[in-house]
Order: sequence, then C-alpha cells, then structure tokens
Amino acid sequence: KTQERGGFRFFSAELNRAAHERAMLETDLRAALGAGGGLQLHYQPQVASTDGLLQGVEALLRWNHPTLGAVPPLRLVALAEECGLIRQLGQWVLDRACREMAGWRRRGVRVPHVAVNLSASNFLDTALPEFIGQLLERHGLAPVDLTVEMTEGVMLNPDPLVLATVQAVHALGVQVSLDDFGTGYSSLSHLHRLPIRELKLDKSFVQDIEHDEMARALTVSVLRIGKSLGMTVVAEGVETEAQRHFVAGEGCPVMQGYLISRPVPADELEAWIEERSA
Ligand code: C2E
Ligand code: CA
Ligand code: CA
Ligand code: CA
Repeated sequence: KTQERGGFRFFSAELNRAAHERAMLETDLRAALGAGGGLQLHYQPQVASTDGLLQGVEALLRWNHPTLGAVPPLRLVALAEECGLIRQLGQWVLDRACREMAGWRRRGVRVPHVAVNLSASNFLDTALPEFIGQLLERHGLAPVDLTVEMTEGVMLNPDPLVLATVQAVHALGVQVSLDDFGTGYSSLSHLHRLPIRELKLDKSFVQDIEHDEMARALTVSVLRIGKSLGMTVVAEGVETEAQRHFVAGEGCPVMQGYLISRPVPADELEAWIEERSA
C-alpha cells in the first residue's frame, strides 16, 4: 500500500515535471517567436551531382533553449502544433529565410534558391499564399528564389483545402518540393494532382544503399518516376562516397548530406560558398 502510494507520488511528480516543462516551453516559444530569442535557421547546401555546383540551400529550424539546450526541430514543430503556434512558426521561418536570402543577394553571394519546410497544417492556412506573396515583395525576391517543401504525408489524405493552397502557392511561381519521398503510402496516385517540381528521396533509402538491395531498387525507381514526370530528384542524407557514387551513377541530379556539408548558420554558409568559389 505504501509502495503504491510512493509509486503514485513518484508518478505524479514526473507528470508534474513534464507539465511544468511543457508550460515553460510554451511560454518560451511564444517569446522566441516574438522579440526573437534562440530561434535560428541553419542552411544545408544542395549541389549538382555532376559538377558540385550549388543548386540551392534548405533551411532547417534550430532552437537553443536557455535551460534545455538544443530542442530537436520535430519536437519544436509538435509543440507549436499543440499550442496553436504552428502558423506563427511557419511565418517566422518563411520570413527569416527570405530575409537571409535577400541579404545574400545584396552581398553578391550566389544562392540559387532557399527551400523552407512547412508542416501539413501550414497548408491548411488559406492565407498562406498571400502571406508568401507579400513576403517576397517586401524582401525584393522573385518567386523562384523560394521553394516550399512539404512531406509526402501531406498527400496521404489530401484535404481539398491543402490542394487549393498548394496550387495557389505554385501559381505565385514558388516551387513545391515533396519531402521524404518514398516513405508515404498512397502518394503516387496523387502525384499528378499537385504541381510538384521536385522529389526528395528520403535519407533512409540513401543510407541503406551500400548494403540493401531493396534500398538500391527503390532509389532507382524514385529516380525513374522523377525523370518521367519531369521533376528534379534530390537525394538527401548522402554521407559516404559510396552513396554519392551510386546516386550520381543512377543519374540523380542533386544531392544533399553531411558528405557535402552539415546544416550551418547563415554566415558559415556564406564562408563555405566563398571558399569553394575561390
Ligand atoms: P527533413 O526536412 O527531412 O530534413 C532533413 C534532416 O536530415 C535534417 O534534420 C538534417 O539536419 C538531416 N540531415 C541532413 N544531412 C544528413 C546526413 O547526411 N545524414 C543524416 N543522418 N542526417 C542528415 P533536422 O535538422 O534535425 O530536421 C528534422 C526534421 O524536422 C526535418 O526533416 C523536417 O521535417 C523538420 N523541420 C526542420 N526544420 C523545420 C521547419 O522550419 N519547419 C518545419 N515544419 N519542419 C522542420
Ligand atoms: Ca526537408
Ligand atoms: Ca526529408
Ligand atoms: Ca524527414
């Protein structure tokens, strides 16, 4: 009996701590989205398989929390979804990426485009296309300077609202990229319904290329689908020479991964580009 009560006390103390941490995170996320504190974007280069030339960069969210340290982006996105901040978070990321892109343009740093990750619920926001249009104008960017990435999961059960928003974003001239391609289930049947320009071959396949026949077969299939539909394919998570060799040999036009560069802060990206063009 006492043990049970002790167990319960322990359990409720744990719950308490989790609830406390959750409340603190929510407060801190609100603050970070406002005045700006701790939220950052890192950028990972995407290069051509043939000549290594920079094709674009992907913006990846980073949150260095004052007491908890680095909060993983997927946790941050889930938190934002839970507390109704996902719209603000999406807008923050879009704004920061466009501002940094405009800065590179001013300083003559050649970044062909910046890709931003948006979550499924961002595409439920019918005001998203207008927000993006105004953002581009405010930062003096062309629509082709921006790509939005959405995960294949968005297409699992495509809401008509989502389809309409994606169409409207595309109508602005912004490119749409399908992330984590190959991990979803039913998206092949929906591919033709969306104005997708790019498929991102999920890194789970790329990472198994060396020792898994199935991963190699899937990689080849995704490349074939992309080619026949006139889409660019980006292999993500390329970590080894062997992986690079395989995807390049199979005609994958663009690659991204630690082998080329980790995601880095904006100033480091700038240095990386300068160093390579020197
Ligand atoms: P993702 O969009 O599939 O991004 C690729 C992830 O793979 C990133 O993890 C990146 O750092 C990591 N990565 C890149 N190259 C390599 C490699 O060679 N090897 C390995 N093992 N990993 C590599 P990260 O930054 O932790 O982001 C995780 C996920 O969080 C992203 O997956 C994306 O779904 C989500 N995310 C990140 N930033 C944002 C954002 O601004 N908004 C939204 N909604 N989601 C975001
Ligand atoms: Ca992505
Ligand atoms: Ca991905
Ligand atoms: Ca992913």
